[in-house]
Amino acid sequence: MSRYAPDASADQAAQSRFRPVDSVPSANPAKVDLHSHSTRSDGVMPPAELFQQMTECGMEVVALSDHDTMSGYRELRDLVGDIAGAPQLIAAVEINSIADRDLIEMGVELEEGELHILGYGVDADDPHFLRALESQRDARRVRLMMIIDALRALGKPIDDQIAVVLESDEALGRPHIARAMVAAGHVASVQQAFDEWIDRKGPAYIPRQGMKSRAAIDAITAAGGLPALAHYPAAPEQPELIDLLMGWGLRGLEVYYRRFTPITVRQMEALAAQRGLIATGGTDYHGDGQSYADARSTTEVPREVGDRLIEALGGVGART
Ligand code: AMP
Ligand code: ZN
Ligand code: FE
Ligand code: FE
Repeated sequence: MSRYAPDASADQAAQSRFRPVDSVPSANPAKVDLHSHSTRSDGVMPPAELFQQMTECGMEVVALSDHDTMSGYRELRDLVGDIAGAPQLIAAVEINSIADRDLIEMGVELEEGELHILGYGVDADDPHFLRALESQRDARRVRLMMIIDALRALGKPIDDQIAVVLESDEALGRPHIARAMVAAGHVASVQQAFDEWIDRKGPAYIPRQGMKSRAAIDAITAAGGLPALAHYPAAPEQPELIDLLMGWGLRGLEVYYRRFTPITVRQMEALAAQRGLIATGGTDYHGDGQSYADARSTTEVPREVGDRLIEALGGVGART
């Protein structure tokens, strides 16, 4: 059962997260970016290089929200004081969580059966939280090995191209597989690798193992963080889902997302205001085929969004 109103689904189809976006620069390019990825998970740029580019773009408040690791943030917090004009840096993480049974029973439509939960202001030294993230990374590695095996069985081996990545302790993901497939000459682009081989309908798709959504919200809360629902444009049509997640401790909503249409952004703003959720936003920059400057200049995140999040996190605590 889908509860999408016809207009909303048309709007959503037009803004599929992975569809290329036209890169017409915004009149108000973001100075706030609360969603980005580095090589510590599945982005293409090392944390320090990404942070340097953020600084050069004149960003004011940023968060590196790598999947299942705090290692990029831990590196950056030691650098930030030495870089002239550096933006304020907020501790963050993104946990791609598997929908709990209660969510599935609601009949909500979820991309790949998942909700992505961002955690802001988490304690990056909390041993319990770091162990939980380590288990997540272990589960990612197991899944990746299974995808590699499936591709080999399908006549698309990537063992040589993926070897370097497997040696690291990074949070591995399908973008690593997709890039290895490009390097092996099996596909022409990362997008083609997803579309033909490894997205949910692909022959080499293997389901994720790891935290459920409720556990992700709990883990972030227990580490002193503010859990926020990432890139979920159907939220305004799903009041029961929002009730359930807020009952579990959800406190924020990603309202400003690079690929949301202006209509969706307005609806998400209204939802956040109505439910008392902290609005967040950002580029979700990974770096495949696009510069950071480009991503940021095609994203709008109002300045107050950074200030309000910092305030919700207790002000100065957010600054490192
Ligand atoms: P994983 O954590 O292994 O499930 O990989 C998730 C990441 O893969 C997302 O953060 C996106 O960057 C990328 N991704 C997922 N699905 C697609 C898709 N259909 N097309 C392009 N990129 C995708
Ligand atoms: Zn990612
Ligand atoms: Fe995500
Ligand atoms: Fe992301």
